[in-house]
Amino acid sequence: MSTTNSLPNYINGQWCTSSATEHLDVINPATAEVLARVPLSTAADVDQAVQAAAEAFVNWRRTPPTERVQYLFKLKNLMEENFEDLACTITLECGKTLAESKGEMRRAIENVEVACGIPVMMQGTNLEDVARGIDEMMIRQPLGVAAVIGPFNFPGMIPFWFLPYALACGNTYIVKPSEKVPLTMQKIFRLFEKAGLPKGVVNLVNGAKEAVDAILDHSKIRAISFVGSTPIAKYIYSRAAANGKRVQCQGGAKNPLIVLPDADMDMTTRIAADSAFGCAGQRCLAASIAVTVGKARKTFTDAIAEAAKKRVVGHGLDQNVEMGPVITAQSKARIEELVQKGVDEGASVLVDGRSPKISGYEKGHFIRPTILENINPTGEIASTEIFGPVLSLIHLETIEQAIALVNSGQYGNMACLFTTSGAAARKFRYEAEAGNIGINIGVAAPMAFFPFSGWKESFFGDLHGQSHHAVEFFTQTKVVVERWPSDWSRQF
Ligand code: NAD
Repeated sequence: MSTTNSLPNYINGQWCTSSATEHLDVINPATAEVLARVPLSTAADVDQAVQAAAEAFVNWRRTPPTERVQYLFKLKNLMEENFEDLACTITLECGKTLAESKGEMRRAIENVEVACGIPVMMQGTNLEDVARGIDEMMIRQPLGVAAVIGPFNFPGMIPFWFLPYALACGNTYIVKPSEKVPLTMQKIFRLFEKAGLPKGVVNLVNGAKEAVDAILDHSKIRAISFVGSTPIAKYIYSRAAANGKRVQCQGGAKNPLIVLPDADMDMTTRIAADSAFGCAGQRCLAASIAVTVGKARKTFTDAIAEAAKKRVVGHGLDQNVEMGPVITAQSKARIEELVQKGVDEGASVLVDGRSPKISGYEKGHFIRPTILENINPTGEIASTEIFGPVLSLIHLETIEQAIALVNSGQYGNMACLFTTSGAAARKFRYEAEAGNIGINIGVAAPMAFFPFSGWKESFFGDLHGQSHHAVEFFTQTKVVVERWPSDWSRQF
């Protein structure tokens, strides 16, 4: 394969060619046009990045936090100035609409803003006179070199759940973006360069399995953040932990959304449609199963079917488009096979979005919103993450049954309830086994100043991304117990 136009890595403050012998095409999912070629970097490339980061750590950790955040303030301003361009790049390589890409970049910037508070967030604690004349303090120190391995669906935002906190806390960093969407990070690293970060503090290594395995095994990497599918999350978690690293791994999801009969149906339908079909269903917080309770069944079913049929599907950069394509041709084929699987298990297709013709974009990986009704609650379709614009409907009679269904799932990324009853909302918030709860909210994505709290098979680790959890993840605590007898000082 040719290496022409292969994307560079960014190591030790330099754009450099990977030593990869294999490259992949980066494809615009709306047109199937090749946008670039990405190198599948080798263990040697990763080692180069780690050595640079380890060297940079010596001075970076000694740089006062107030100075470290000045680079983040500069980065924030550069991200604002280049906001439109970054959002367009996300849409081109990932397919989502421009509005969705802007929302993604906004959350990335918000994380930079929160990390700028590190001079306060990183502070420790202390207590005088833990025994007579003895004081004790807990201080937070950076770990060293850390790395993030990202998924394809949020190329701009997800590395920023971790990166700004890692840097602000005094660590040095390596980003390994998804090989399907490496272009956004290319642009963001140009901004790091402009912000003037000391060389080696942030490094970019493109690639796939070989690069990931090298990160998992490198003795100088202290901490790894991963976001992606559950089988890979489990693999990363176990291999990195076996190598003695600190790890946090966010995995897949199958998010239920419960509609009670007293819900405001107009609002519920609008929000549910956006949750299920926004980003073409390729969000780890996408509603995947809608459970109607009692009399909610008919009203919600009719309204969501209408909303699904009306959704405008097309190229994410075109005006008025409400939903883009899915990421690859393989992904489209897999989603359509899963819909068929649902039918084979007894479901009926209420709205069929398979194999649509999108005028002008015949080669794109499009699926229109699809709704499956009466799915088998114990079948494969009820538990498999489809990761496409497919909503499955289940009907139950009580909120207790609905909560039992939520809690029977293997994942625990998000669960949502639509109601006008405070008591029902409180019961749900209290009993539902998921780390992110939405009450009349369809995508319960925590703001940057709260942790992104997946549970069960949606998360492996204890400290999550964003906010104080990220600060704890990227620091190690040191406790100092001190005695300074006053009669010693009198001797000098
Ligand atoms: P993926 O697991 O296929 O890939 C994620 C990363 O792992 C990529 O960087 C890839 O290069 C690497 N990778 C893939 N296979 C590997 C292997 N065998 N060995 C080593 N590394 C490997 O995930 P994806 O398809 O890019 O992303 C979609 C998934 O991510 C969905 O399951 C979605 O739910 C999940 N996700 C979860 C969250 C969350 O917060 N829980 C957020 C976004 C996405």
